[in-house]
Amino acid sequence: MKTLTVSVVTPDGPVLEDDYEMVVCRAENGELGILPGHIPLVAPLSISVIRLKKQGDTTDRLTVNGGFIEVRPDKVTILAQSAEKLSDIDIKRAQESLRRAEERLQSQQSDVDRLRAELALQRAKNRIEAKQN
Ligand code: ATP
Repeated sequence: MKTLTVSVVTPDGPVLEDDYEMVVCRAENGELGILPGHIPLVAPLSISVIRLKKQGDTTDRLTVNGGFIEVRPDKVTILAQSAEKLSDIDIKRAQESLRRAEERLQSQQSDVDRLRAELALQRAKNRIEAKQN
């Protein structure tokens, strides 16, 4: 089976680089399944989980905070503001982040940046759901 080299990079540095048979991710306009030989494309990603299928039956999963996917026939590059392997997710931190975001969204204070709080909420929920499933 052919493979693709997948590289995930954030401002904090590389998160992962390995070869996979298939990449499944959620772009802003729908789910994308990428196999070796895919036509080149660039697409914005949602706050979501990326599934990376390895030879055999293993699938690695990563949470990704938006960003972009760049596809070439033999390589996939994901550039994101943050991305985590499931084993690196601190569930307590995500739960605290979720609680803070919920408090901000419920607050009546006018200085709350609602979009910022909404995005923090989505990131925290994404991490919690990924870790729990
Ligand atoms: P927090 O409020 O906890 O900082 P956040 O969603 O604002 O969460 P980000 O700005 O997305 O955090 O990420 C900042 C850095 O912290 C990134 O390197 C990211 O991978 C890491 N990070 C954030 N939340 C977690 C978590 N729950 N577990 C592990 N790493 C995390």
